[in-house]
Amino acid sequence: MSPVRRCSRTACGRPAVATLTYVYADSTAVLGPLATYAEPHCYDLCAEHSERLTAPRGWEVVRLLDSSAPARPSGDDLEALANAVREAARPQERAAGAGGGGARAADPMEVARRGHLRVLRSPDN
Ligand SMILES: [Zn+2]
Repeated sequence: MSPVRRCSRTACGRPAVATLTYVYADSTAVLGPLATYAEPHCYDLCAEHSERLTAPRGWEVVRLLDSSAPARPSGDDLEALANAVREAARPQERAAGAGGGGARAADPMEVARRGHLRVLRSPDN
């Protein structure tokens, strides 16, 4: 069995119930169902931190888990949506690996590929 997923917030060891995905291109943070596998730009959050989530300035938060929504889509729909978001957020590393003989110049997405993510500074600090 897979190990229990934990909240990624510092000093919080509660079990994760949701996954936060940052879509840098759209300045949007998407809170959705717990991801089935970990990705570098995804952060697992416990119930409490999901509830308290606030976006950095200039960012929008999209909650796919809003329990107050009148009509909830099925879990499958939510998961498909969350996966689509993650797909869109993923840096285009596959393109570089595919083909092999491709003579691609520098990928404009390259700037997003850093060893770790520290992207949440406000623009006006
Ligand atoms: Zn937490």
